Amino acid sequence: MSYLVLARKSRPQTFDQVVGQRPVVQTLRNSILRDRVAHAILFSGVRGVGKTTLARIMAKAINCSAESENRPCDACPSCKEIRSGASLDLYEIDGASNRGIQEIRELKEKIRFLPTSSPYKVIIIDEVHMLTTEAFNALLKTLEEPPAHVYFMFATTEIHKIPITILSRCQQYELKRVETKELYAHFEKLAKGEGFNFEPAALSLIVRESGGSVRDGLSLLDQMFSFGDTTISVADVSEVLGLVDREVLTALTKGLLEGDKTAVFQAVHTVFNFGLDNKRFLEDLLAQFRNLLLCKIDGCSPLLDIPKDELIAFQEIASSYTSETIHLKLSLLMQLADVLKQSSQPRLALEIAFLKIIEATNVVPLSSLLGHLQEIMPGLPATSTMQAQAVPLQEAPPKKKTELPPVSTNNQRGSRDSSTPVAQRSPTKQPPPRQNTTSTGEAPPLPPEPEDLRPSPGPVKGHGTKDPKRDWAEFLEFIKADTVWMATNLERADSISHKVAGEILITFSDGLNCSLLQQKDNQQLLTKFACDFFKKPLKVKVIVPDIDNTLDESGVDSPQKKRQQLLNEQMVMIATEIFNGQVGAVRLTSDSRKR
Ligand SMILES: [Zn+2]
Repeated sequence: MSYLVLARKSRPQTFDQVVGQRPVVQTLRNSILRDRVAHAILFSGVRGVGKTTLARIMAKAINCSAESENRPCDACPSCKEIRSGASLDLYEIDGASNRGIQEIRELKEKIRFLPTSSPYKVIIIDEVHMLTTEAFNALLKTLEEPPAHVYFMFATTEIHKIPITILSRCQQYELKRVETKELYAHFEKLAKGEGFNFEPAALSLIVRESGGSVRDGLSLLDQMFSFGDTTISVADVSEVLGLVDREVLTALTKGLLEGDKTAVFQAVHTVFNFGLDNKRFLEDLLAQFRNLLLCKIDGCSPLLDIPKDELIAFQEIASSYTSETIHLKLSLLMQLADVLKQSSQPRLALEIAFLKIIEATNVVPLSSLLGHLQEIMPGLPATSTMQAQAVPLQEAPPKKKTELPPVSTNNQRGSRDSSTPVAQRSPTKQPPPRQNTTSTGEAPPLPPEPEDLRPSPGPVKGHGTKDPKRDWAEFLEFIKADTVWMATNLERADSISHKVAGEILITFSDGLNCSLLQQKDNQQLLTKFACDFFKKPLKVKVIVPDIDNTLDESGVDSPQKKRQQLLNEQMVMIATEIFNGQVGAVRLTSDSRKR
């Protein structure tokens, strides 16, 4: 008994049977229907996507005696002849083994004669890119003026190796990798036809392994059919094909993200006990992380050509981590691929690298870190002499509303850009304030002061005119609702004065307490808050008296010295260590300065 491999047994004989490649099939069909078939057609694409299959179907269609809409019918004498390989008018040439000029000359000799039984002669040259330059040149002359009774069908996996002179004389069709869904349906049908029953995950694995190639998938199916049992599980597929079980991969992925050393080492043990190809194993692992990363990027999930249940599983894992974390670990894994190539002890190299990846702590976007800081800041004990001023990295934009001081004037307020991860210790320098410390920020152009014609409503809370001095606390609450840090900074002001109408002067004795407030953007924001709250045009000025602070009259330490002491405090050092950052600035409260 001879066993016909699936690839041959299931080879599509008509356009309807072709798996995938819908646009190409449609165009070819139309060309038959309208009798406008080009005399030279080139099919390109990776292996096993249907290039020679389509060439053969075209050969049949060209010579088919059925009505044009039914071609190829696969039933007429010509179709049958071609299918059985008995046609004298179809030449199939393997470009790899017939690549010289001599073979092309022989071919040209053959096509000089009219076809014997069919209307046309069809020449199929597979792997046409393998032809020598001379052979291409010899072919070129024929392609320039093809005899009316001859059609050429070329197939290639490497279209870039074909001379442009040849390309320009061919109608080109690029075949795509077949989509997972289509492969799955195709393989499922074939398996059923052969009397085999696959677990869905097992079939998914075969589809994944086939990498979009029908032929590769079919040969994997063949392997599984000869494995024995008619019911085929994931474990069977993994075993026969030498693949890492998806469960092991998932456990490893989670372990690496979670920092679970036990899980990671167990997975490595399984992998090595199995005797798997390291390179292959790492590729699978990288693919896992890539899938996770794509799950985190808005709108990218559809790019993942994986079965739905797998997609859901990936999305579930991805939801627990930031894209920065996944990105960081993926980059580290990429480096591992290089290390592994050169290592004489792959298992050890793998384990060490995995440890490194585990120890690369998960990344929290700076904006959310600062958000947390801001939440806990008001809860810090009042005795704390250090006001932990969260100095964001330059690029860290505020996450939403104005939770954070926009330290760079280039930052658009309210930018919803992704955040800069604090992946490693990096110098956190606060950009110098754009304005002089003594400056009073310019208020934006204000509308002309409206004449208040109403009778004064008096100090009714919540209505009517508010007074900057009287309702200052309420004003700070108003700011706090939108921009917490600004309210906190303003609470440190030494005095508020509203002597001149339309102007509020806020005095700070220590410039460091208001360096952010002095930035132009923030001044404008503060002015806007004031205008909104007091319901009249106001100018807000932040003032730092220009006094020499180096020696306090009371004889206590200079602020600089005090700051230095605070920097060296143990608590500060621990906090810096935990956040893996640097202290951007130390602010002294009036309380701490007296101590
Ligand atoms: Zn036919």
